[in-house]
Amino acid sequence: MLDYIIVGLGLSGLAVTSHLGKRNKSFRVYENLSQKSSLVAGGIFNPVILKRFTLAWNADEQLKMAIPFYQQFEEKYGVKLLYFWDIYRRFNSAEEQNNWFDAADKPGLGNFLDTQLIKEINPHVYADYSFGRVSSTGNIDTEILLNEYRNDLEKRDVLKYERFDYNQIITEANHVSYKGEKARNIIFCDGFGLKRNPFFNYLPLHGNKGEYITIFSEELKLDKAVKSSVFIMPMGNDLYKVGATYDNVDKTPSPTVDAREKLMSQLNKIISCKYEVIDQVAGIRPSTADRKPLVGRHPKIANFYCCNGFGSRGVLIAPSVSKELVEMIEDNKELSPEIDLKRFTRKHFKGD
Ligand SMILES: Cc1cc2nc3c(=O)[nH]c(=O)nc-3n(C[C@H](O)[C@H](O)[C@H](O)COP(=O)(O)OP(=O)(O)OC[C@H]3O[C@@H](n4cnc5c(N)ncnc54)[C@H](O)[C@@H]3O)c2cc1C
Repeated sequence: MLDYIIVGLGLSGLAVTSHLGKRNKSFRVYENLSQKSSLVAGGIFNPVILKRFTLAWNADEQLKMAIPFYQQFEEKYGVKLLYFWDIYRRFNSAEEQNNWFDAADKPGLGNFLDTQLIKEINPHVYADYSFGRVSSTGNIDTEILLNEYRNDLEKRDVLKYERFDYNQIITEANHVSYKGEKARNIIFCDGFGLKRNPFFNYLPLHGNKGEYITIFSEELKLDKAVKSSVFIMPMGNDLYKVGATYDNVDKTPSPTVDAREKLMSQLNKIISCKYEVIDQVAGIRPSTADRKPLVGRHPKIANFYCCNGFGSRGVLIAPSVSKELVEMIEDNKELSPEIDLKRFTRKHFKGD
């Protein structure tokens, strides 16, 4: 009898299984490569919401846990995953500058927002109203992380690359059976795949499509990450990630011409030099109505759990939220009410 079956190995499945592994719990993971959100993510960790200059939900605490969480994989696999750099927020008006100063005075934000404005960061980046610097930010290479982790689990024979067929689960009194294998619990980390999950698809997971382009520019020579209407992230070798789009309507997995043109049009308003688009990726963010994760136990089936709803902040959210879920199952600890999927049960669950 296994301790757990896990469905999905994006950032959620990785964080959940990593916490389970530390407790020597046995598990089998199913992954069918149907969703790409974690793989294509820019991997940025940034506690500040750069549109409104507010602190993202619990971001300070999440950041403290996330850095060592990802560093352990750097050490384990001997690869570089974490990059620390500052974000330069490009202001569009004097009003935005004033809002920045107001925000920097607020508790918590002062640690991240520099009140010294920067006039120019690069001759090819337009800056009518200067830049504000956000510190304690950076990115993780989610593609390398997931590839290393998946290879590791595959070698240990605990990962199956196949579609998990929700219709084949048999629920028994104290365990579940799936294709002849028994497990005490099952945790669904299926991202936007939750829409096809008959046990949890009553939850209000909306999904938001995001696309990035990668550009090559010999002229630009930008060594800083810039946030304006788009994010420009230097990747070295004259390559830059530019994105991402937010689309609540299109839920198809492929990159679109529309998104590419939109990103290029926004980029053309920020930089003045030539570039070439060399790649484009897309994924569906598992976003929720109230922008909080969907974590917890199924309202009717005691050993069914969900760890989802990370929206556009999976890098910061995954390590701490998955830990809470594992502590809830293994140590009977209460989940924080704001992440507990119970908050939607009464309104959305029609199982009564
Ligand atoms: C373009 C883009 C840029 C982003 N940039 C950032 C960023 O810079 N910083 C940040 O923090 N977040 C970012 N995000 C958001 C981040 O990617 C998500 O919050 C996070 O990856 C969600 O992780 P997840 O594991 O819940 O979902 P997913 O990554 O979607 O993983 C779910 C997994 O379950 C698998 N699965 C689903 N159904 C089944 C099934 N039936 N059988 C087997 N396997 C199944 C899927 O194949 C998938 O691998 C970005 C997202 C996008 C799309």
